[in-house]
Amino acid sequence: MVDELLIDTGADRDLLLRYLAGRDVPCPRCDYNLRDLVGDRCPECGDQLVIRVNMVEPRIAALIAGLVGLSAGVGLNGLLLIYAAFVMRGRGGMEMKFLTCNAVGFIVEGIALFAWLKTWRLIRRLSPPVRRRWAIGCWLLTAANLTYFTLTIQ
Ligand SMILES: [Zn+2]
Repeated sequence: MVDELLIDTGADRDLLLRYLAGRDVPCPRCDYNLRDLVGDRCPECGDQLVIRVNMVEPRIAALIAGLVGLSAGVGLNGLLLIYAAFVMRGRGGMEMKFLTCNAVGFIVEGIALFAWLKTWRLIRRLSPPVRRRWAIGCWLLTAANLTYFTLTIQ
């Protein structure tokens, strides 16, 4: 149903070309300047372009909050893995526990971060309360990661 709404009509194409006539507008994908475009595809990346109405405020606060939450966890585990590789060499069991704990956290939060970015557009279409709950979920995952690390490494 959404795809049907995105199908461009000849009138929309005409509006697009008139909008771009004499106006510097970067391609949303590759930043190529679309000024005086003659077709409905970007000459640089080949993506089809449509003209549409957007909100002034893109409502991405919850998306960014979730992104920061997951990035904090991935960053913490990543830095601690680097620390372990250079500083903790030769400490036996403690090193293994430290490495395992951080590797698990890094992989779990890394997968969550990848999924967050891959589903960005879907999450953006959710209602604001649902988006907020997902963002809180991202921070709860990082809090669980930190708790797991704290309890494992004592
Ligand atoms: Zn392009």
